[in-house]
Amino acid sequence: MKVSQVKCPRCGKPSYSKFKDTVVYCDECRTMHYRTEGGPVVIEYEIAEFQKELPLRKFHLPFWRLFCNVTIFSEQVSGGWAARLVNMASGGGRGGSIFIFVPAIELPPDVFKRMAQDLTTSPPQYRGTERFVGDRMPVAVDEEAARKLADFLILTFEAEKPGVMQNIRYQVDVQHAKLIYLPFYQDGTSWQPGL
Ligand SMILES: [Zn+2]
Repeated sequence: MKVSQVKCPRCGKPSYSKFKDTVVYCDECRTMHYRTEGGPVVIEYEIAEFQKELPLRKFHLPFWRLFCNVTIFSEQVSGGWAARLVNMASGGGRGGSIFIFVPAIELPPDVFKRMAQDLTTSPPQYRGTERFVGDRMPVAVDEEAARKLADFLILTFEAEKPGVMQNIRYQVDVQHAKLIYLPFYQDGTSWQPGL
């Protein structure tokens, strides 16, 4: 196993990662960053506190929360995801802003899609906390990949409701990305929400 050493861009403390994680977390000053050829890029993130106790192992799972402007060019919507998209886009009928959640961990495609859809449809309510509890899962989907997935995910949401969704045309522009660590319990091969 390859162990790499990376210095924190804020305090200089070296971090060692034995996992393949695209982000580096400094447990000294709690700065999170990823590396590019142009140098380190500090990431904004939040950690959600566990709100229920289960006799299972605790994990914090990363999700990209993408603040998006959605522009709706044409619509003929009678229900399902499209109607919700139109309503959620708070600027009115021609579009507005929504948060799109993209899981940043590797998951089976159906679970990935379901989590994205559930969180995007009803954004989680949580209290922020400063420290990770349990294990912090590595970020396998980087910010760029998450941004590219946003559009695609909305299309897969649509695909769930064929016939309803055919007459909407829209454009999604990601304005801002933040990493949100949500609490989960590992239950066999599935994840139980800790909220
Ligand atoms: Zn640091």
